[in-house]
Amino acid sequence: MAQIRVENLRKDFGAFNAVKSSTFTVEDGEFFMLLGPSGCGKTTTLRMMAGLELPTSGEIYIGGEEVGMKRASERDIAFVFQMFALYPHMNVRKNISYPLVSQGVSRSEVDRRVAEVARILQIASILDKPVGGLSGGDRQRVALGRAIVRQPKAFFMDEPLGALDAEFREHMAEELRALHDRMGATTVYVTHDQLEAMQMGDKIVVMNHGVIEQFGKPQQIYDWPATRFVAKFIGSPPMSFLEFEGAIEEGGNAVTIGESRIELPKSREGRKGALTLGVRPEHVRLSDAADLRGRVAAVEYLGTTQIVTIETNHGEIKARTASSDVIRTGASVGLELDRRSLTLFDAMSGRALL
Ligand code: ATP
Repeated sequence: MAQIRVENLRKDFGAFNAVKSSTFTVEDGEFFMLLGPSGCGKTTTLRMMAGLELPTSGEIYIGGEEVGMKRASERDIAFVFQMFALYPHMNVRKNISYPLVSQGVSRSEVDRRVAEVARILQIASILDKPVGGLSGGDRQRVALGRAIVRQPKAFFMDEPLGALDAEFREHMAEELRALHDRMGATTVYVTHDQLEAMQMGDKIVVMNHGVIEQFGKPQQIYDWPATRFVAKFIGSPPMSFLEFEGAIEEGGNAVTIGESRIELPKSREGRKGALTLGVRPEHVRLSDAADLRGRVAAVEYLGTTQIVTIETNHGEIKARTASSDVIRTGASVGLELDRRSLTLFDAMSGRALL
């Protein structure tokens, strides 16, 4: 069992508090994403989990055992980094078998495990080639081969696909996920790319300024963002926000913005004040039965769909519509918001009012 549990994990670099106080659990066999913008503390969190950085305080458990003070080499884990250095003077087979040979594993067992890894990664045909002439993708596979050959309890990956071009990156992302599904090993993966996190992850931790903003399944995070930061960070284009002084009705089933009354998907406590209503572009319809009106500021063609940017009195809103819809810049349009998917935030704290 390789469940990983992090409790009240904190890291200070001198006076700078890089990771505030993180608590979360990575279940056995999960593909787990640490997601956030540059500098949010995701790499530092991963490095503490992996034993490359000592926590300032807090605990880390791998398979039930507290490992906070143990070195990486004592944790039975493997890393895959973006700039994974292969041994240039060794061929593919030697690169992959090196961790086993250095552990004193018998020759026959090394051969058996290297053959198995080569089969899983489909690199049997290049085993005897030098690594120098390999393509980026093959190099990444060899790096993965070297990580998985030891059959560690867990994998730690820091932006492993970061150096690849977009097309190849997508291909390798699919391959990595498929590899994980075949092997079932607990994997913790750092990325700043929300699409990568959504596509690959079973669970996602979203971090910002050293704080966990939200923790959950990709769909939960997309549908029910806990904070405005998460709502803005996830989705392409992200959620639009309408800012207004408004009121949630007593009973909490609807909100009034000026003249408009918009029903809410979940009931909330009645209140008045500065509110933010979040809506995703796919949940806005241009319609005469309008909740709001606005003026078309831009139309961006994306193939089968287009993104229409509309200026309203409460802020800019984006709608995704079929590109066959003829929409002119400057036109006045009505907007209908899908009630099932609205998120309301407290404008001051940025927290969703659930
Ligand atoms: P990136 O994707 O840019 O690596 P990140 O989210 O992984 O970002 P971290 O590398 O964890 O962020 O860094 C978090 C913060 O801690 C940053 O402000 C960084 O400058 C700071 N930091 C990281 N390592 C050190 C260090 N050894 N000494 C001082 N500050 C550090």
